[in-house]
Amino acid sequence: MVIYPMKCGTIIMESAYATPGHNEGMAARCAVGMFLIEHEQALVLVDTGNHPKVAEDAASYWGKDVAECIQPKMDRDDAVDRQLQRLGYKTSDIDIVVLTHMHLDHAGGMSLFPDATFYIQADELAAAMWPDPQFSRGHYEIKDFAQTRDFKIVRLNGDMDLMGDGKIRLIKTGGHSVGHQMVYTRLPEFGPTLLPGDACFMPEQLDFLTPPGMPIPDPERGLAMVRQIRDMVEKDDLYIAYSHPTNKDWIKACSSYMC
Ligand SMILES: [Zn+2]
Repeated sequence: MVIYPMKCGTIIMESAYATPGHNEGMAARCAVGMFLIEHEQALVLVDTGNHPKVAEDAASYWGKDVAECIQPKMDRDDAVDRQLQRLGYKTSDIDIVVLTHMHLDHAGGMSLFPDATFYIQADELAAAMWPDPQFSRGHYEIKDFAQTRDFKIVRLNGDMDLMGDGKIRLIKTGGHSVGHQMVYTRLPEFGPTLLPGDACFMPEQLDFLTPPGMPIPDPERGLAMVRQIRDMVEKDDLYIAYSHPTNKDWIKACSSYMC
């Protein structure tokens, strides 16, 4: 069993969003992470990055405001289908897709997997279709999932042992988005590894104990999850595969451990 990190290009994260109250005024170019888990019984994809059309013209796919705000840098080869190809897989080889949540940098490639079974929290599905305008302006792109109503989607209401063997656990976090979940893995070769999605998307959030992605639907819950992740790291010697570390940290992680 192996976890492969895949990068769907980069986006700009402002400190007010990434580490509110710290590093004021800073903006960092950060990775857009996706992960492939090779379990003995299934190929499990965690998150699908940006839609491939973002590589052609982000402003026309996401709208000008979002494209200007997060300034994606993405080639067509960065999209999830080409990244899987690089690892020797076709999109139709993927058995299971777990979406940590349905923001546009996680659910963008969803429509490329009509044969897979999706595991998504039920309230995240509702939030993505009918987002609360206060928190989700521009966070969800309805084109990403407009054609997926007939897909096989397991609607979760809380935590789940995905394969029934304790090796891949989905843990509902809420906080960053209404139905956000993270993925905790215990793979023999890797030791305990957490894919926190955007519950804690870069290491600085653990350093500063800040809930990421402000404003969010439930900041208290967001902070509680960051604290819980910090406790897990201390207790369990946990490795964290962050979804949006700075590009520099992503490259460092890949060269030292993940790739
Ligand atoms: Zn994200």
